Amino acid sequence: MKLISENVFLKDYYFYRAGGTARYLACPETAQELSGILEWRRKKGVSYTLIGAGSNVLFSDDLFDGLVIVLAGLNRWIVRSRQRVICGAGVPLHCLIEFTALSGLAGLENLYGIPGSTGGSCLMNAGAFGSDISDNLEKVEVLDSEGRVLTLSRGEIEFGYRKSSLDGYIVLSAEFLLKYADPLSLKKKIDLTASKRDEKQPVESCSCGSVFKRPENNYAGTLIESCGLKGLRIGDAEVSEKHANFIVNKGNATSLDIYRLIKYVKDTVYNQKGILLEEEVKLINF
Ligand SMILES: Cc1cc2nc3c(=O)[nH]c(=O)nc-3n(C[C@H](O)[C@H](O)[C@H](O)COP(=O)(O)OP(=O)(O)OC[C@H]3O[C@@H](n4cnc5c(N)ncnc54)[C@H](O)[C@@H]3O)c2cc1C
Repeated sequence: MKLISENVFLKDYYFYRAGGTARYLACPETAQELSGILEWRRKKGVSYTLIGAGSNVLFSDDLFDGLVIVLAGLNRWIVRSRQRVICGAGVPLHCLIEFTALSGLAGLENLYGIPGSTGGSCLMNAGAFGSDISDNLEKVEVLDSEGRVLTLSRGEIEFGYRKSSLDGYIVLSAEFLLKYADPLSLKKKIDLTASKRDEKQPVESCSCGSVFKRPENNYAGTLIESCGLKGLRIGDAEVSEKHANFIVNKGNATSLDIYRLIKYVKDTVYNQKGILLEEEVKLINF
């Protein structure tokens, strides 16, 4: 099939820029292309995994013996009607927020700088500075496992901390209901959000953002730092000096380097603090 490539290095498809190869890889741009690809995979009987912009995933160095569907190019359009904005799954979140801010529509500013796609961010219920993407979400259009297009209203979806019941669906687009506001003040707000991120996070390095979820009444970064793990390295994987909950690829880290460092940090925090950290990053093919 024309849309499917074979034996593709995954490095260029996820933010860590580490290892892994896909037996098959496809980058659909429309729902029709996506349906054709899913039909092909059903007939072929191969397993599949989905990624969006790849900002919260780590593939193992091994061959993924199935189909990787990259959704970062899917439905790259935005439609606005008054306070409602419908956004395709592949639109980068920062583009959506620049669009809504310029249009004088408020609600998404705190999420500015999260480097994911809109679809991946809905699935993850991405959030920052006290806001989550689900706060302003009205509806999501999805493809279910049988290939049917469904519209799920906000009330039909469960959202939790960096998780949602959208797992198992393919997000095609999302509809937001926002509030009118002054575009100039929204622009200032997103600029401020971006500078807060630059100050606190190693945004210049390859990473997946926060490796671990925030444990109850604590912060993963604080726990990791207080175990003396900042700067610890395995190969080219390093616990960031700037933010201890970020593990960065300093250049040529393998996925195994990153994975081993994640496990080492998790074990050390558990042994020293008695707190079991849970990965926020999605580990694929380990
Ligand atoms: C520097 C940096 C900073 C970050 N800061 C934050 C932050 O402040 N807050 C935060 O919440 N996250 C943060 N992240 C993590 C990440 O950006 C978010 O989780 C983002 O929402 C993931 O979107 P994505 O498109 O990259 O998804 P991916 O990483 O590609 O995939 C994540 C999950 O979503 C699924 N998925 C992706 N697209 C779809 C789709 N269309 N339909 C169904 N499933 C899909 C994948 O199968 C996978 O399970 C940060 C990451 C980095 C690198």
